[in-house]
Amino acid sequence: MSKTKSTKQIEEQFELDIYPRREVVIVRGKASKLYDDKDREYIDCASNVGVSNIGHANEQVATAIHEQYLRLANCYSMFYNDIRARFAQKLVEIMPHFNNNGNKNGNGNGNGQLSKVFFCNSGSEAVEAAIKFARATTGKKQIICAMRGFHGKTMGALAATWGPEYQKPFMPMLEGFVHVPFNNYDRFEKSVSDDTAAVIVEVVQGEGGVRPADKEYLKKLSQFCRAVGILLIVDEVQTGFGRTGKMFASEHYDISPDILCLAKSIAGGIPMGAVVCKEKIIVPKRSHTSTFGGNPLACAAALASIDFIEKENLVERAAELGEYFIEKLSEIKSPKIKEIRGIGLMIGIELTEKAGPYVAALMEMGVIALLAGNFVIRLLPPLVISKEEIDKVVDALGDVLQEQED
Ligand SMILES: *Cc1c(COP(=O)(O)O)cnc(C)c1O
Repeated sequence: MSKTKSTKQIEEQFELDIYPRREVVIVRGKASKLYDDKDREYIDCASNVGVSNIGHANEQVATAIHEQYLRLANCYSMFYNDIRARFAQKLVEIMPHFNNNGNKNGNGNGNGQLSKVFFCNSGSEAVEAAIKFARATTGKKQIICAMRGFHGKTMGALAATWGPEYQKPFMPMLEGFVHVPFNNYDRFEKSVSDDTAAVIVEVVQGEGGVRPADKEYLKKLSQFCRAVGILLIVDEVQTGFGRTGKMFASEHYDISPDILCLAKSIAGGIPMGAVVCKEKIIVPKRSHTSTFGGNPLACAAALASIDFIEKENLVERAAELGEYFIEKLSEIKSPKIKEIRGIGLMIGIELTEKAGPYVAALMEMGVIALLAGNFVIRLLPPLVISKEEIDKVVDALGDVLQEQED
């Protein structure tokens, strides 16, 4: 008699073998907890790589999705739509504000506001759109990118992403992309040519190891771009919507992006991406479109999710809990910790040895964490995580670092 197949066996049989997997079947979640098929509880410090900022199974977003689906799920952008209109307006309202007269808000490069939205369905798509819009607006080709930068894996985004291991199987890459060291202004300036359309940068590199940009580097880069007419594309796909203790991580810096890329946590866990542009970004009609982009279902989820972030003060919460988390982590005495860095609830713990075994050991102890590169444990908990849960995570990390010592 044939045995019933396990979830793992079925997935391995019917899906391409592309993702490195963990030996666990996750079936449900609530707030900052995840549960496997044996109902074992985990503290989520991954948020599906920065998607679940408001936590899992949020009632308000669930209600919004339910009601909107019964009203209208899809509405191609050839039509106007009430919910899309409301969300576009809301998104522009929460954009970092650039003061044209000075530095009132600490990011006063002036030069217009982020005021025009294009909707798509993922982070890679947001980056694709940003690259196309930059080329269309400037008539130039070169895009300057950062080493260790991550912008997604579709062909355009992949050309901007750092990492020969990602690019090599898919050669040739799109032309015109150069990579220069992150946090090195001189190398950036030297790479500029007459054909430079834009620079694309994360203000905190996520996949690249949780590395915040230096304030001076980004300020000079932003000022230079503005002075010579190069567009500044900031990829906040991972850092947006409260993650770093500001609604957008750009607010920590004295910069003025021309194009902001968003996705991941934008819509409470529903797939959605967006780019928000300054007025000067001009794209020919019909030159870039998306069937699902701006669908009312995702827009309703996004409206409800941002409403929840605002009502529950999750941005301030991320700032406070992030400080608390890093303070507690700093109390762990282990020679294996090389550096703890982070901003809000985006935290990296760089070890002196490979971090993979420790992430696996953490899961055994009921904590789901991420890697960022080979040596960094990355923590991206939902912003609704509690202090008690943070304490448990810190204890677990202390234990696993200790254990493997003996
Ligand atoms: C995850 C991520 C992307 C790609 O997003 P997808 O939705 O996976 O296409 C792009 N940029 C950054 C900074 C990311 O973290």
